[in-house]
Amino acid sequence: MADPWQECMDYAVTIARQAGEVIREALKQKMNVMIKSSPADLVTATDQKVEKMLISSIKKKYPSHSFIGEESVAAGEKCVLTDSPTWIIDPIDGTTNFVHRFPFVAVSIGFVVDKKMEFGVVYSCVEDKMYTGRKGKGAFCNGQKLQVSKEDDITKSLLVTELGSSRIPETVRVILSNMEKLFAIPIHGIRSVGTAAVNMCLVATGGADAYYEMGIHCWDMAGAGIIVTEAGGILMDVTGGPFDLMSRRIIAANSRALAERIAKEIQIIPLQRDDED
Ligand SMILES: [Mg+2]
Repeated sequence: MADPWQECMDYAVTIARQAGEVIREALKQKMNVMIKSSPADLVTATDQKVEKMLISSIKKKYPSHSFIGEESVAAGEKCVLTDSPTWIIDPIDGTTNFVHRFPFVAVSIGFVVDKKMEFGVVYSCVEDKMYTGRKGKGAFCNGQKLQVSKEDDITKSLLVTELGSSRIPETVRVILSNMEKLFAIPIHGIRSVGTAAVNMCLVATGGADAYYEMGIHCWDMAGAGIIVTEAGGILMDVTGGPFDLMSRRIIAANSRALAERIAKEIQIIPLQRDDED
């Protein structure tokens, strides 16, 4: 049977590339930075413009599909995942990087049907890396097949995570103490690229062994999630339970053993779910 979603995926790659071009051009211009949920949660006119461009072109081609977009939700649209084919879009993952011209900025497009990830496209546009993952068909970067690392001994692992955009003292304290606990196990190191999507893609390439974070959103994870699993990795909740796309937290690792070991160290930050009003 022909793959019913392959055409959608090919289209996602095409428009992610176009969006990346717009972002690269915008990096050469002056920016007007606005804030959202905290003084460190930034948005620019380019985030909004790129999301509008992506959603309107997909809608034209697939009018019956549903959409969740970071900036549409910020503008008041509902963030509820149904069984309908849904495009989950982050027009710029790494807006703080974009604002500072720190060269890791990604367009993330995830496609979910019956609440299951079908494909994901993450275009890291400054470094011109197109990551893709299609259920059952593997994950690729610029056409090269991806495979997670084999290191499941945490003491020999390199982890990626972020400090996040919350500046609430208790939240910052828990984030730092989680890093401290993991760091002191000891592990080889911790890195932060500044975008959840690229962090996860780095796990898919084997460059990092695992990524974890709390406080992110479904649009940060929906594109790269299937890239990790198709590269042989796994997704897990930070409690050690099953991954939930709307939970705002994730461990993406090369193996169940490493993910469980990380989950053991993590103190949970209470968060409002993406689909909670
Ligand atoms: Mg964004």
